[in-house]
Amino acid sequence: MPNYTPTIGLEIHTELKTKTKMFCDSPNNPEEHHPNVNVCPVCLGHPGALPTINKEAVEFVIKTGLALGGEINPETKFDRKNYFYPDLPKGYQISQYDKPLILGGTLNGITLRRIHLEEDTGRLLHSSRVISHQSPVSYVDFNRAGVPLMELVTEPEIKSGEEAAKFAKEFQLILRYLDISTADMEKGQMRVEVNISLGKWTKGVWKQGTKVEIKNLNSFRAVAESIDYEIKRQAEVMKHSKVHQETRGWDDAKKETTSQRSKEEAHDYRYFPEPDLPPFETASFNLDDLKSSILELPKEKRERFKKEFQLNESQAEVLIADKKLSDFFESAVSELKVKNPAANIQMLFNYLTSDLVGLLNETSTPFEEIKVSPEELAHLVALIEQGKILSRGAKDILRKMFETGEDPETILESEGLHLVSDEKEIEKIIQAVIVENEKAVADYKGGKEASLKFLIGQAMGKLRGKGNPEVLKELFLKHLTK
Ligand code: ADP
Ligand code: MG
Repeated sequence: MPNYTPTIGLEIHTELKTKTKMFCDSPNNPEEHHPNVNVCPVCLGHPGALPTINKEAVEFVIKTGLALGGEINPETKFDRKNYFYPDLPKGYQISQYDKPLILGGTLNGITLRRIHLEEDTGRLLHSSRVISHQSPVSYVDFNRAGVPLMELVTEPEIKSGEEAAKFAKEFQLILRYLDISTADMEKGQMRVEVNISLGKWTKGVWKQGTKVEIKNLNSFRAVAESIDYEIKRQAEVMKHSKVHQETRGWDDAKKETTSQRSKEEAHDYRYFPEPDLPPFETASFNLDDLKSSILELPKEKRERFKKEFQLNESQAEVLIADKKLSDFFESAVSELKVKNPAANIQMLFNYLTSDLVGLLNETSTPFEEIKVSPEELAHLVALIEQGKILSRGAKDILRKMFETGEDPETILESEGLHLVSDEKEIEKIIQAVIVENEKAVADYKGGKEASLKFLIGQAMGKLRGKGNPEVLKELFLKHLTK
C-alpha cells in the first residue's frame, strides 16, 4: 500500500449556556422538554422582528479566545447564511463569515483557524405516527432555535483519530472549566465534525487528497473510530480510483461511514452582512476583566496537581477530567491533619476516586448531592493513620458516611467500632499476657509461629475485641524479641 498521510481538521460547534438566546430574550434552557415554549417573534423568524446581540454570548466566545491564545478581532460582524430547512424559520442563519470574533490560537499544539458565533436551529422530531392515511408526520420544536452556538475551526494539522479525540476532549474540558457550556456530546451540546483527506509525497512533491466531511459523531470514541475507518476506506478507494468530495455520516452500530451528500449537492449560502446588526468593535468589551475572570485551566491544574500532590499522570487525569472532583480532592487535602502527608494523600486519592466515586455511581447520585464533605473524608484518612480504624473497616464507615452524612467519629462511637490503639494501654495488657502465658512465649521463642497468634488472641480477649490487631502484633514482636 502506498504511504498516505492523513490530514485532519475539525469544526466543533458548542451550545453556550447563556441565560437567554443569541438574538432575543427568550430563555435558553436545554432542559425544557415542553416544545415551543421558549420562543418569541425574533427566534421564530417573524417578519419585521429585530435581533439584538447577546452580550454574554460574545463574552463567552472572547473568554474562549483568550484561553486559547487567539487574537480578539478588533472589528467583527454578523452575516446571513442562506439556506432552507424546516428547522430554520427565517430561511437563513445568522453567523459570522469573514470577520469572526477570534482569529488563530492553539490547543494541544494544533493551530486554530478561527472561533465565531452563530445561532442554533430548531429541532425536528420525526414520528412514525400517521395522521392522514398516507404519510408519517414530523414535528418541529423551536426551543433550541436561536440558542448561541460557538464554532471553532482548526487548521488541518491533526494526524490521527486518537489525536482528534484528544483535542476534542481537552476542548470540552476547557469549556467546562470556563463554565460556558455543558458541552455534553451525547446531548448534542458539543458537536464535532471531522474533515479528512489522505495526501502523498510523489517525487518530492506533496499531493493533497480530496477531503471528506464526517458528521453525527456523538462521542469521542466515534470521532476516533470514524477517522480510523475513513483512513482505511480512502486508502482502499485510492488504489483504483479517486475519493469523492462528500459528507458522510457515522453509523455507530456498524462502525462505518456512509455517504450522505455529495459535493454536487453542496449549498451556495449567498453570505452577506446581516443588515439588522451593525459591525462592532470588541474594544467596547472589557478584555482585561474577561481575562482576569479566567481561572486556572485544565493544563495548569494538571501540572500543579502532579507537583503539589505527587500524583502520577493518570491519577492527575482522573481528577482533572472532572472539575468538581478535583476541587473536592484539593479541599480534602487541605483539611488533612496527618503526620505523613505523602502517603495519606495517596490514601485519600484512593478513597475518593474508587470508593466514593464508586458509591456515587452505584446509587446514581450526582456529585453535587454528595453528603460526605471534604473535611470528613480527610478526617476518615486521619483516623486510619492514628490507628483508630483499620483500612479494611474504613470502607464500611465510608459507606455509612455516604448514606447518613454523619462524620466518621460519630459513626465509630455509635457502632462501637472504635479500636484501642493507645500504645501504653496495649503494652500493659501485653505484659500481663506474657506473664500469664509462659509456655506460649517459650514456644514462640523456640520457633513456633502459631504461638504468636495465640498470644495476640489472649490480648484481644482482654481488650474485648477492640484492640487494633496491627498495633498488637507490632508491640508483641517488640516485646518478644527483647
Ligand atoms: P471552508 O469550509 O470554508 O471551505 P475549509 O474547507 O478550508 O474551509 O476548512 C474546513 C475544515 O476542513 C477545517 O477544519 C480545515 O482544517 C479542514 N480542511 C481543509 N482542508 C483540508 C484537507 N485537505 N484535508 C482535511 N481537512 C481539511
Ligand atoms: Mg466548512
